Amino acid sequence: MKCINHPNEESVVTCGHCGVALCRECEQNALFRTNNGNGQALCKRCSLQSAQEIVAYDEKWLKKREIKIGLMAVLLILPVIIEGPAIFSRVGY
Ligand SMILES: [Zn+2]
Ligand SMILES: [Zn+2]
Repeated sequence: MKCINHPNEESVVTCGHCGVALCRECEQNALFRTNNGNGQALCKRCSLQSAQEIVAYDEKWLKKREIKIGLMAVLLILPVIIEGPAIFSRVGY
């Protein structure tokens, strides 16, 4: 089988995701590898897909964290709103 990216190169491995043939150069330059232990190289298309999945995951995580920070801020501010000036008078100014 020939490499999917280099029609003149004989393939040495296959993509760990979709199974297309990859030559040694493509294997060595692979941006992503499978994380199932043997670190099989991924083809360009699957690498791109993996990158997009990571970005999507990060965005989800960031959104969750924003909600958490928002809740914490509300919890911190709430007593000040409820008790209002009482908190400041307790400080003793
Ligand atoms: Zn692939
Ligand atoms: Zn190649």
